[in-house]
Amino acid sequence: MVTTPSAVKSDIVQSWMRESAADVRLNADHLTQLDSAIGDGDHGINMNRGFEAVGKALAAQDATLAPGRLLVVAGKTLVSTVGGASGPLWGSFFRAAGRSLGDEPSPDGAALQEALAAGVAAVRDLGAAGPGDKTMVDALEPAVEAMGAALAGGEAVAIALDRGAAAAEAGARATVPLQARKGRASYLGERSIGHEDPGAASAALILRALARAAG
Ligand code: ADP
Ligand code: MG
Repeated sequence: MVTTPSAVKSDIVQSWMRESAADVRLNADHLTQLDSAIGDGDHGINMNRGFEAVGKALAAQDATLAPGRLLVVAGKTLVSTVGGASGPLWGSFFRAAGRSLGDEPSPDGAALQEALAAGVAAVRDLGAAGPGDKTMVDALEPAVEAMGAALAGGEAVAIALDRGAAAAEAGARATVPLQARKGRASYLGERSIGHEDPGAASAALILRALARAAG
């Protein structure tokens, strides 16, 4: 029988980051194409460089390091390896999520949801983007809300994460008709309409990787 874990132990975080790195690598060209349409065409390269470095940094960590500590390492690594806007933003996301989990060795689904919410709050603080501004927030925020609603409805962590990933994917698709109000894409004004936001697309990949890692 396959049992689904109800706690988010360090091995799940390790596998989340490995899966994220693999998905970012597979989709790097696509992310770069999205960024070529409304930005400077480096998003796939940025994210790939960052997550490759995260993979190396996490592989070097002690197996007993708490999940929150691993996320803080991931966040710091992204800040120091990614030059674009997405490096500091994702760095803040993972550092805030990691700090929220603290030293707890096996946080539950509610703690994970709170940590992801802290991550989104940190992104919003740093980037000053809200829902509808056509950024990664448009994928991250609905994901955290959907996850919270699923957990509040008594669903298991794996189901809640799957709902979160689906909400992130829907949120990313829903950026297509929006006009960008933050980041490089906002310089295009109305010409940013009709394209998916690259940061929202990569956020959906990362949340899907989490659902797979914990599933
Ligand atoms: P850069 O824009 O510096 O080239 P990237 O191409 O790596 O960096 O990342 C672009 C993505 O970053 C955008 O698609 C958007 O989702 C996200 N982003 C940019 N600025 C902000 C902001 N102020 N708040 C939230 N997300 C932002
Ligand atoms: Mg770019």
